[in-house]
Amino acid sequence: MLSDQLRDCGVVGAGGAGFPTEVKARSQVEFLIANGAECEPLIHKDAELMKHFPAPILGGMAAMMEATGARSGKFGIKTKNAESLAAVRDNLKDPRIEFVMLSDFYPSGDEYELVYTATGRLIPPGGIPLHVGCVVNNVETLYNVDLALRGQPVVDKFISVSGAVREPKSFWVPVGTSFRDVVALAGGATAAEYVLFISGIMMGTMTFDIDDVVTKTCGGLIVLPRDHYLVTRRNRSQADMNRIGKSACDQCSYCTEFCPRYLLGYEVMPHKVMRSLGFTTTGAEHWNQWSELCCACGICTLYACPEDLYPKEACDEGKRDRRAAGLKFVQTAPVQVHPMKEYRRLPLTQLRKRLQIEEYESDTPYVETVHKPAAVRIKLKQHAGAPAKATVAEGKRVKKGQVVGQVEAGQLGASVHASIDGKVRQATADYIEIVA
Ligand code: SF4
Ligand code: SF4
Repeated sequence: MLSDQLRDCGVVGAGGAGFPTEVKARSQVEFLIANGAECEPLIHKDAELMKHFPAPILGGMAAMMEATGARSGKFGIKTKNAESLAAVRDNLKDPRIEFVMLSDFYPSGDEYELVYTATGRLIPPGGIPLHVGCVVNNVETLYNVDLALRGQPVVDKFISVSGAVREPKSFWVPVGTSFRDVVALAGGATAAEYVLFISGIMMGTMTFDIDDVVTKTCGGLIVLPRDHYLVTRRNRSQADMNRIGKSACDQCSYCTEFCPRYLLGYEVMPHKVMRSLGFTTTGAEHWNQWSELCCACGICTLYACPEDLYPKEACDEGKRDRRAAGLKFVQTAPVQVHPMKEYRRLPLTQLRKRLQIEEYESDTPYVETVHKPAAVRIKLKQHAGAPAKATVAEGKRVKKGQVVGQVEAGQLGASVHASIDGKVRQATADYIEIVA
């Protein structure tokens, strides 16, 4: 069965939280949606993947359609990526698959948005695509599904490197390769001091640690100078964000008016969540309920708020507090698309301008690279669910593709595999380090 092959090969969502694909392969749906939208500013690796590897992506899509019983396939792709579209179209033989042409807005690849655009269906509040008969897979995940059909586990990752580097480009690297190596493969940084945004500026994470490593979910690296506006923005403690928000939020509600989930009809209202910072006498537990359906897209913090405040981070905190308190928000109002939704869409050009990254926008052309790292660090948690447990001991020799970590039977999670031949230098609860 496909789900068993996907489990054995450690296939997880390559475009987000790393949800194990085997679970999706076990569901029964009407629509299988390929997500090639790629909305994060400065990341173009999916466009390159579709341009250069369309056949395996479509092979993975066909396999997922068969496994899920989907009668229709929808391929979400942006009109601006004409070469990628042509490559996929040239390889498309299945009449059940049609393209869903997307404009260059952020976040058109959000699952709720994509399902609505592709099928006209609105996912119930707090639900998943399955609740409206859909499975959504990122295009690189589908590529990995195709590999799994041939018994090949996920050992390489396709990434793009952009921003302040000499040669912005896309390439494959073994999972577990250090960011230090990845930046060097892109010709090195052009800034003396720099930071890395992993998988995106809007929804990714920022790190100063260039010895951290590529995982199965790493969409790409964006290198920005240490003194960039976004680094200063991001590098604040939650306490500082809250203090500033409490004193400066004037309740203009722009954050809510631009929120894509609010515009789709969900009760997400970041301006109300900002009240939880303490400038009303009503407690946070009341105001935080409007954070629960937030998808953490970052528009409110990084685009909408004229005061440069942190409504997204207030929502993050609100969600954490509600989870800890065991509270669950249930939207009672029907989900109804806001009449202004189409007029409040956020073009990437506008977003890049607001983020002050226009100078870094460039293609990241695919370059065939055979990178042989001296060592890799395979994290045991690169996926949603339980972490894998090491199945190899220190000092053992391993072969590329060999299982080095597994989750217990019946647990949600995924296996991890050696991405190079070598010797296990360290096997901890968090990672397996292999030296070539
Ligand atoms: S946009 Fe900024 S100032 Fe306006 S309500 Fe939201 S957080 Fe407050
Ligand atoms: S991050 Fe902000 S804009 Fe995005 S969904 Fe959450 S509240 Fe809405």
